[in-house]
Amino acid sequence: MSDLRELYQEVILDHNKRPRNFRAIAPPSQKAEGFNPLCGDRITVYVRMNGDLIEDVSFEGSGCAISKASGSLMTAALKGRTVTEADSLFQEFHTMVTSPADVPIETGRLDKLIVFSGVREYPVRVKCASLAWHTLRAALEARQDVVSTE
Ligand code: ZN
Repeated sequence: MSDLRELYQEVILDHNKRPRNFRAIAPPSQKAEGFNPLCGDRITVYVRMNGDLIEDVSFEGSGCAISKASGSLMTAALKGRTVTEADSLFQEFHTMVTSPADVPIETGRLDKLIVFSGVREYPVRVKCASLAWHTLRAALEARQDVVSTE
């Protein structure tokens, strides 16, 4: 288990150092801003839609390693998906990071997103890992207000 944990840690550090899709989309179909006051993470998520398809998705921002890696892995996971698929992935992700630490995780479609399962043991970190997702949802719903995890 500790090997697995180290592997997860490595993936998170890698995505923090070299975040994928770390850029703006100009002009985006939709965008939203998110803020996690507990940690100081700030993120802007950009989406370019083609009908119901998320043709491109990217992010910018500053924050801790977990928030940045989450934006990176989330955008990588969502490109080319439909809004419905994105919603159900968000549900699975949310269930994973909020479940008790001793409950085994169903990988399902989470794939690489499983690296965030470790945040279950650190409630404050759950907000860091979820910020990108809440912000994405706001972008998809075309909400104008800044999303706050508080
Ligand atoms: Zn954070």
